[in-house]
Amino acid sequence: MASGDPNPTVLDTDIQELPGVGERRAEPLRKAGISTFRDLLRHYPRRYLDRSTVTPIRQIVEGGTEAIMVVGTVTGKSQVGQGRKVRFELKVTDESGGTLKAVWFRGGHYIGRQFRNGDRLALHGKVEKYGSTFSMAHPDFDKLDDAKAALDTGRIIPLYPGTAALEKVGLTSRAFRRLIYGLFKEHGLAIPEVLPESVRQRHDLIAGNVALRAVHFPKSRDELGRAVRRLKFEEFFFLQLLLALTKGRQKREPGTTLAGMGPLARRFVEDVLPFEMTGAQKKALRHIAQDTASGAQMSRLVQGDVGSGKTVVGVAAMLMAVDAGFQAAFMAPTEILTEQHYANIKSYLEPLDLNVQLLIGGQRKKLREEILESVAGGEADVVVGTHAIIEDTVAFKNLGLAVVDEQHRFGVMQRASMFRKGLRPHMLMMTATPIPRSLAMTVYGDLDVTVMDELPAGRKPIDTRLYTEKRREDMYAFLKEQLREGQQAYVVYPLVEESEKLDLKDAETGASELMERFRPYKVDLVHGRMLAYEKDEAMERFKGGETDILVATTVIEVGVDVPNATVMVIEHAERFGLSQLHQLRGRVGRGGDQSYCFLMADYKQTAESKERLQAMVETTDGFVISETDLRIRGAGDFFGTRQSGLPDLKIGDVVRDQEILGEAREAAFALVESDPELRAPEVASAREHFARTAPKSLGFARVG
Ligand code: ADP
Ligand code: MG
Repeated sequence: MASGDPNPTVLDTDIQELPGVGERRAEPLRKAGISTFRDLLRHYPRRYLDRSTVTPIRQIVEGGTEAIMVVGTVTGKSQVGQGRKVRFELKVTDESGGTLKAVWFRGGHYIGRQFRNGDRLALHGKVEKYGSTFSMAHPDFDKLDDAKAALDTGRIIPLYPGTAALEKVGLTSRAFRRLIYGLFKEHGLAIPEVLPESVRQRHDLIAGNVALRAVHFPKSRDELGRAVRRLKFEEFFFLQLLLALTKGRQKREPGTTLAGMGPLARRFVEDVLPFEMTGAQKKALRHIAQDTASGAQMSRLVQGDVGSGKTVVGVAAMLMAVDAGFQAAFMAPTEILTEQHYANIKSYLEPLDLNVQLLIGGQRKKLREEILESVAGGEADVVVGTHAIIEDTVAFKNLGLAVVDEQHRFGVMQRASMFRKGLRPHMLMMTATPIPRSLAMTVYGDLDVTVMDELPAGRKPIDTRLYTEKRREDMYAFLKEQLREGQQAYVVYPLVEESEKLDLKDAETGASELMERFRPYKVDLVHGRMLAYEKDEAMERFKGGETDILVATTVIEVGVDVPNATVMVIEHAERFGLSQLHQLRGRVGRGGDQSYCFLMADYKQTAESKERLQAMVETTDGFVISETDLRIRGAGDFFGTRQSGLPDLKIGDVVRDQEILGEAREAAFALVESDPELRAPEVASAREHFARTAPKSLGFARVG
């Protein structure tokens, strides 16, 4: 809702005012994100029905992997089985004379009540063949009355995404078509063009109101194609505009000027580090030196696979700040990781005689006060802490540079909140989550990016094996062999939030079994419910070599570094996501020794988990893994918007529409480059649209 807008237009009208909506329908509409006329216009069809998209049942081919659409009449319904195993089946027969079964294993009662014999239906889903019948499990469906007309006359009918709550108040696809039709009839001419004329011409885009009408009521496939392209472009354009303005603003923000690698940074790299930096590490440091000497704020993301050696890059960057007389901070997402970084950084900086402080929750009050004082007074040169450093009241005397480790947990919002607090240090974000380029453009579109695409020399690819229970004994025998050679191992259990207790029991039982079996080797357990100091102590014992096997829930996921650990056993591997598996596996293979990863999986696996586990066996390359992950999960899930802090896309798809995304990005960045405040009259309506629709919570990206 755009209350308080300077000049609200008819598009800002409350959805309840639309004839055919009313109070009862307004509520579920708002819940579905449709509060105004504008929102309704952008409630895009999820699919279209016409002759070209419907497959006659008789023409279905066995073994197809793509979802298809069939349209037919309900010719039978039945409930099969009993109790919790009950499933609901619907027979649908179409004009080709074929019959298909739609099956629901859940929610059958609800579904059952909705259908009557004779109903016309469109079903969308993947088809499998059992015996001689084709069936679709949990298809997406629409009740139709006008399908026949569409199929006979060549009309294209839009099908809208819905929810149970919307259907309950009669808001089916058909109802949406009527509402939107009414909206156009009444107000079609009042829809303003929001893209600048020059952008439209350059990229050959049809007018906004024409596109909106055509996306809802296409006259032809061709027209629909042009409409969709235009609307995708528009969506990407405004998202990229947000990023461009943010970036532009950061670039204009006068920054403290550092002087590259000073004496401390140099001594660290040349004398303290026991190894030569990789080419990729040197490249990252060059970029950082340039950014921080430019006079503007640095906002750089270093993206490097697990084990590529990001930490030392962060430390050297901090030393550039200390060299120039500033303080520096190093932030990590979890306490375990923070303490580990603290221990590392402290020992790195000891020979340089620097004051390094640790700030985490749970420190004694007196100690914390002393630390805060040294931070505020400027005695502390380097502060290592959780992200809480920037979230609460820590005052720095002169913070020059902040490193944020594992940036994928540190969203745009948090960066904004830091800026709002008046802290304006150079920012160096580091992430091991390799994102495909297409996604990087959106998620990190306002950052400069350095890709560290090189692992330290001498690393051996991790030997990954997928085992079921049958081979558990083999795995144990192998593990024993490794322990005998003085190596250490992790055994990781998944932690699913809903059943946290149960999973913990799994890990606990696992730990005591291992203790029995591997006596006299030492087994330790670390999990999320332990107190911070207990976790640390367990990690310390493992790091110091006192413990041989560390059993853990996923608290060890990111960043933990114990080079002597060479075996990673992942229990219930089928329950983990792909990038999480990759992160976990990255805990081994960090020294020169050959390392191993055992994926212990259940016999029963979904097609998806099979694909994930297979990918793990096949490659250790984080970028390949992330592309696979993206393909399996789709873009929406890959990067939750909540994490990235970016708005949801309604029509664009960052993976499939990379080309349009690239064009829109170029256009948006070019616009901001030539007109940083969007002042030209030609862009007035774009600017207004942006001001109205850009997520206000980002705050720092406002124009005007
Ligand atoms: P990540 O990028 O996953 O954060 P780390 O910074 O934890 O990686 O480094 C992984 C391991 O590699 C650490 O033990 C670190 O000391 C070591 N390391 C870092 N850079 C190099 C290098 N240039 N040569 C050899 N070992 C290195
Ligand atoms: Mg790291």
